[in-house]
Amino acid sequence: MKPIVTSQDYIRSLKEQHHIVYYNGRRVDDVTEHPALRPHVNAAAMTYELALRPEHEDLMTAVSHLTGKRINRFTHIHQSVEDLIKKVQMLRLIAHETGTCFQRCVGFDGLNAVYMTSYDTDQKYNTSYFQRFCDYLKYVQDSNIMLVGGMTDPKGDRSLPPGRQTDPDLFTHVVETRSDGIVIRGAKAHQTGAVNSHEILIMPTQALRPEEKQYAISCAVPLNAPGVVLIFGRQTNEERKFEGGIDVGNPRYGLVGGEALVIFQDVFVPWERVFLCGETEMASLLVERFATLHRQNYGGCKGGVSDVLVGATALAAEFQGTAGASHIKEKLAEMMHLAETIWSGSVACSAMGSRTPSGAYYPDALLANTTKHNVTRHIYEIARLAHDVAGGILATMPFEGDLRSTEVGHLVRKYLAGAEGVPVEARLKILRLIENMSGGTALVESMHGAGSPQTQKVMYARLGNLEQKKRWAKRIVGIE
Ligand code: SF4
Repeated sequence: MKPIVTSQDYIRSLKEQHHIVYYNGRRVDDVTEHPALRPHVNAAAMTYELALRPEHEDLMTAVSHLTGKRINRFTHIHQSVEDLIKKVQMLRLIAHETGTCFQRCVGFDGLNAVYMTSYDTDQKYNTSYFQRFCDYLKYVQDSNIMLVGGMTDPKGDRSLPPGRQTDPDLFTHVVETRSDGIVIRGAKAHQTGAVNSHEILIMPTQALRPEEKQYAISCAVPLNAPGVVLIFGRQTNEERKFEGGIDVGNPRYGLVGGEALVIFQDVFVPWERVFLCGETEMASLLVERFATLHRQNYGGCKGGVSDVLVGATALAAEFQGTAGASHIKEKLAEMMHLAETIWSGSVACSAMGSRTPSGAYYPDALLANTTKHNVTRHIYEIARLAHDVAGGILATMPFEGDLRSTEVGHLVRKYLAGAEGVPVEARLKILRLIENMSGGTALVESMHGAGSPQTQKVMYARLGNLEQKKRWAKRIVGIE
């Protein structure tokens, strides 16, 4: 593929991709022109656009350890603690520009997780996945394509392991092994940015038993490969995207990442794109690494999105004349405290990162999980405070159509006026931004994106070293 440099190159490449995407039962001709998909394309395009701005070169780009070339940081393998910190700084920066999820981190984290784990797999099984993966990585870095990181399988009956599901396709698996590659079947759910990515990097979804070899699969698949079908997920206020304008809240970039169900109907994958095949013992390590790398991010992107929401909430108060009230100031301060708390988690887990045997750097797993866990709580509290400050008008505002109406527009302007000199349009825009950023799909994304809270608690049990904590307590009071 021709290297993608500018955001226009990115959009052009998606137009040429001709992958099969369904939206509400209909095939989408061009994801870049579809009103419901275009905002997500615009948000992801910022990962290309900002990389070209000289003032952001240090955060948005890196030097490839494989080729020595300057590359987009979203295709980089972390070579130091500094790289880990720059990663989360980059995410907060892009969130400030877009106010939403820009999606490309999932594939970025997949690249790093598979890099580390393919190396370890080779050490353990004398396989040759790592060199294969490095060759693929060079292609990704040179072409600057966008990847989606495909981890979550639909899972069917969660009480049953993959091998005991009534329908084996509820977990992605190998259905045929050939001399030139493998054939896979199954699906990946909740795939952020999938409809506007070029390829999917598939990983197992959970730890596997020795007899579940066909599910221990990691490979890269172009999203326009024969047999791949994408079905876009419906979001809160989805129909407003078709209206455009004020009521959408964030019309240019959308409110969340745009998730899709990606289905593999007997998709052929050549061996050079297969990075794990049958080594069940490596599945849990790969899952844990991907999850940790993605949980590291959440104080960066959600911290940045929260900054935008704090700003919008402060403006809403100013526009309606309440900004001077002490309880409003106190609530805004609390919102900032919560945003900085999640941000500090992302910085801390990055700063405490360490080198893996592959040479790639990896954040502190316990702190990364704590960061994500805080996000599942603090984003809800930030949203609650935004609602508190902005007022009930968030839920009762008229349509933009009423504002534009020749019959009642003057009444909307009269009765939705706020502080002296503030245009009613400005007030409504800010209130709609708050409404759309602080409810529905946006909140659920903070709860379940990068893993549900329970998955973080599992990590505390594993990494929290409770026995050591008990020993400290015993020693202090003199219990043997
Ligand atoms: Fe990136 Fe955050 Fe979106 Fe995940 S939720 S893809 S970390 S912007």
